[in-house]
Amino acid sequence: MTDLFKATKAMFHLPQGMIYLDGNSLGPLPRAASERVARMMQDEWGEMLITAWNRAGWMDQPARLGDRIGRLIGAPAGTVVLGDTLSIKVFQALAAALSLRSDRRVILSDSGNFPSDLYMAEGLAGLLGQDHVLKIAPPEDLGAAIDEDVAVLLVTEVDYRTGRRHDLDELTRRAHAAGALVIWDLAHSAGALPVDVTAGGADFAAGCTYKYLNAGPGGPAFIYVAPALADRVRPALSGWLGHEAPFAFDRDYRPGRGIERMRVGTPPVIQLAALEAALDVWDGVDMLALRARSLALTDQFIAGVEASCPELVLATPRDHARRGSQVSFRHAEGFAIMQALIAEGVIGDFRAPDVLRFGFTPLYIDAADVQGAIDILARVMRDRLWDRPEYRQRGKVT
Ligand SMILES: *Cc1c(COP(=O)(O)O)cnc(C)c1O
Repeated sequence: MTDLFKATKAMFHLPQGMIYLDGNSLGPLPRAASERVARMMQDEWGEMLITAWNRAGWMDQPARLGDRIGRLIGAPAGTVVLGDTLSIKVFQALAAALSLRSDRRVILSDSGNFPSDLYMAEGLAGLLGQDHVLKIAPPEDLGAAIDEDVAVLLVTEVDYRTGRRHDLDELTRRAHAAGALVIWDLAHSAGALPVDVTAGGADFAAGCTYKYLNAGPGGPAFIYVAPALADRVRPALSGWLGHEAPFAFDRDYRPGRGIERMRVGTPPVIQLAALEAALDVWDGVDMLALRARSLALTDQFIAGVEASCPELVLATPRDHARRGSQVSFRHAEGFAIMQALIAEGVIGDFRAPDVLRFGFTPLYIDAADVQGAIDILARVMRDRLWDRPEYRQRGKVT
């Protein structure tokens, strides 16, 4: 397995002298992606122009690549499609779920969820204007907050700040027992750990491709709808490419078959070419081996940082079952510490109010990288390298 991950690491462009622990936010460039995108631009866009929609298979790309993501999340062929961004896919899934439970008014989520998911839920509740409400429970009380008023449970498996992982299967069982539908947000799960939407009984799932799947900035999101529901949902975002026959240009909307109806408009063809190259890296990767390596790397980082930086407070669960593929530490000067660390060549990121966040992505991070990061962080703390005014100035993106 070590050889496998040596091989996958060689498939990425990783800048010299940098230890990149931010693949949970933006994955690095797969070497094959530059060439693939260049070829697509020249041979397809350049030479075929509009005929490439058929001749180069552009129109089928969202479903074809959806099937390849399906393998990573336990979804059968024909149940996943790509397009738009995750915020949009969350909105679509919520609207679909609410329409299937039109007798209920509550969307339930937790305060560890990513703000965009909660904003989208609130926006949709307001738009529906039928007394829909978003209820937000503390993460540890989410299961207990499920009752028979809940129409849909919107749960992000791994907390983007702390790396705390929910027990999705258990939450899904409880929600179904109460008659609610469940949406899994897999933003920090797809490509990070084993996922099985089928065995876990997810009704809907969505995630992004530019984090652990390495499709590049602006890579489109994916959405899964359980086969039993796919032909029953009426899309709220009823765009022409989700129509049964887009090129009939009918006056009236008729939803396409199954997952096709979750498409909205023109697919991002250039981004999909990059995604296709990124997905090639996953061929032959066993998700259980990936998980074992992820846990070994996060264990190593936790132990090393705790031994050398006693001022940093671990925010990530020690329990393997409750941990995603990232490690976070808290410190009141977290922002400045992260800036100093970045200046020293270790890239992580900062999340307000006080979280230093590090992603561990086994495809291209190994034990030597982890040790290097521990050593540099220890030096930043010991020598107070962070204590400079310029490290307190915040850019637009943290
Ligand atoms: C990263 C992330 C998003 C981002 O949504 P975009 O629309 O792709 O910008 C949404 N939800 C969660 C849980 C995330 O982690």
